[in-house]
Amino acid sequence: MQNQPVDYSLPGTCTKLAHIGRSSADHSGMVNVPVYRGSTILSGTLEEWESRKTAGNPMASYGRFGTPLTRSLEDAISELEGGYRSIVFPSGLSACTHTLLGLLKAGDHVLMSDSVYGPTRIFAERVLSRLQIAVEYFDPLDAAGMAERVKENTRVVYVESPGSLTFEVQDIPQIAQIAHSAGAFVVMDNTWATPLYFRPFEHGVDISVHAATKYIVGHSDALLGVATANERAWPALQASAFDFGETAGPDDIFLALRGLRTLAVRMQRHWENGVLLAERLRRHEAVEKVLHPALASDPGHALWKRDFHGASGLFGIILKPMSRHQLSTLFKSFKLFGIGLSWGGFESLALPVDSVTRNFGRRLPGGPMLRIHAGLESTDDLIADMVQALDAASRCANEDGEVACNILREVG
Ligand SMILES: *Cc1c(COP(=O)(O)O)cnc(C)c1O
Repeated sequence: MQNQPVDYSLPGTCTKLAHIGRSSADHSGMVNVPVYRGSTILSGTLEEWESRKTAGNPMASYGRFGTPLTRSLEDAISELEGGYRSIVFPSGLSACTHTLLGLLKAGDHVLMSDSVYGPTRIFAERVLSRLQIAVEYFDPLDAAGMAERVKENTRVVYVESPGSLTFEVQDIPQIAQIAHSAGAFVVMDNTWATPLYFRPFEHGVDISVHAATKYIVGHSDALLGVATANERAWPALQASAFDFGETAGPDDIFLALRGLRTLAVRMQRHWENGVLLAERLRRHEAVEKVLHPALASDPGHALWKRDFHGASGLFGIILKPMSRHQLSTLFKSFKLFGIGLSWGGFESLALPVDSVTRNFGRRLPGGPMLRIHAGLESTDDLIADMVQALDAASRCANEDGEVACNILREVG
C-alpha cells in the first residue's frame, strides 16, 4: 500500500456506475436522462391528478419534489451507498444542516466529532443552540470518551471520517453501536470517501451525507448535496427536505449524474496521485508531517484499511516552521496547484489552512498547514510542481524573520 494503490472497490461497481439511473426507453432512446425544467406538472383528468397526489407519490405532483432526473440521481446514490432512499439538496452544507434539523427538536443533545466540516460546526453553534439543542463535541479518536458523553436526550451522533483538515479516521462501527444502544441516530458526512470507498450502512450509519459538489460532480462546475437514509431515518429526512422547501437545480443534478459515470476511474486516479504525492512529500525536508490515512505511517491507517475500500485525493501536510515570506514564495511558485476552496474536481489544489477550531487539540507540531487535493494530472508533473515550490520556499529562508506559525485554535 506504500506506493501503488490496490483497487479494493467492490466487484461490479464500474458496471453499476455505467448503468444505474438510466432508462433510455422512457426518454426517446437517449442514453442520458434529459434535463427536466419545470414547476407545474399537468394532469389530463381529475382522476390523474388524484392519483398523482396519492400518499407516497409526492414526486409526481410538483417540480419542487423532484422530476424523473432528480429521482434518477437519488436512486443511483441510494443504491451505491446501500441505503433505503436518497434526497438531493442545493449544496453539501444544506444536506448536512437539513439532516440535523430533520432529526432534532428543542431539548435534544447532539454529539459531534471534533473535526467535522467547519461550516457544519458553525451551524451547530449558531443555529442549533438558538433552537435549544445542546451541542457537545467528542474527540474523534476516542470512542470511549464519546460513550461517556452520551446522555438520555442524545438524539444524534454526527461523524465525519476522516475528519476535515486533520484527517482522523474514526471507529464508525463502535461509535454506531454506542449511539444505537442509547437510541440515537448516527449521521455521517461521507464526502471524503465517496459512496465507493466507504459503505456507511454496513457500518451502522443511519443517514449518510455527501457534498456531491466534490467527487460526485467531479469537475468543479456545480454545487449539490445528497443525503441517504436507512428505512428508520428516511421519514424524518424526507420531511425535513420538503418542510424547508429544499430542492436543487436540474442542471446541477444532470452534472452530478454525469459525474457518477466516471466516478470509479476518477477515484482510482485521485487515490493513486494522492498517495504518491503524499509519500514524496513525507520525504521532503520542508515537510514536518503528512496527514493521510492511506500511508502506513498514519495513526488512522489500520482503521482505514479495515473499513475503507480506497482513499480520495485529499490530504494534509504540516510544514516545518517557515517565514511568511517563504510561505508566500511557496504559493507563488505553484504552476499546477490552484489556491482555492472546495476539492474533488479534476484539478489539483493547495489550500493554506489558516484556522482549525478544536476542543480536543492534539497540538500539531511544526509550522503552516496545507490541505492538498491531488487532481487527475500526470503524477510526475504534480510531484515535480510540489517539490519545486517547496524547494523555492526553502531557498529563501532567512530573508526575513517573521515566522508563519501553527494555527490550531483550541476552544475547549
Ligand atoms: C465541501 C464540504 C461540504 C459542503 O459542501 P458544499 O457543496 O460546498 O456546501 C460538506 N462537508 C464536507 C466534508 C465538505 O468537504
